[in-house]
Amino acid sequence: MPTDMARQFTEKRLVIASHNPGKVREIGELLSPWQIEVVSAAELNLPEPDETGDSFVANAKLKSDAAAFAAELPALADDSGMAANGLDGAPGIYSARWGGPDKDFDMAMARVNDELGDNPDRTARFVCALSLTWPDGHSEIFEGDIGGTLVWPPRGDNGFGYDPMFLADGDAGTYGEIDPVAKHASSHRAAAFAKLIEACFPSAP
Ligand code: IMP
Repeated sequence: MPTDMARQFTEKRLVIASHNPGKVREIGELLSPWQIEVVSAAELNLPEPDETGDSFVANAKLKSDAAAFAAELPALADDSGMAANGLDGAPGIYSARWGGPDKDFDMAMARVNDELGDNPDRTARFVCALSLTWPDGHSEIFEGDIGGTLVWPPRGDNGFGYDPMFLADGDAGTYGEIDPVAKHASSHRAAAFAKLIEACFPSAP
């Protein structure tokens, strides 16, 4: 086996190292074709580590490491967010924190819109880093992103987080408006997942 080949996932159980129900649901849906028992960090009462990393990749690895070591099972973490080009990439790794303790994304979206003001650059990216850690400490990391435009006011009730204000390039509606199946087919998370699946799940159905 070439040394640069990713480790293959052959286990039957996988911890989703997230306490965010929106993310756990999306990851469960993306993994549904595989016969894997998916269990969330919340269900296992695992603590949420502080996201002290300075990048999506660092925070994803910190979360998958913590869950894999605590649960003694392989663990998959997603660290993701929205980066507005007109705000030098903010909120970026602070996307969740802009929602405050109540995870109020109506407020977070309003802050993005207020800070952009009349900045003509409304372009943005959604970024997703996925980190898969095994209990022996080995990890594999993949990143995906998608470009789009920030609209105001937000549109649609689907999805979570900044979805209602993000119009991905080429889409007819925001992620709040389009069918979640369409989002899953082309989002930043889908792009990172495609890389993970190709590298670590070779006998994919
Ligand atoms: P994390 O749990 O620290 O990775 O926080 C990610 C945050 O970024 C979420 O709470 C959302 O606000 C935002 N985010 C990540 N992915 C998406 C998405 O697919 N749609 C909308 N917002 C997202």
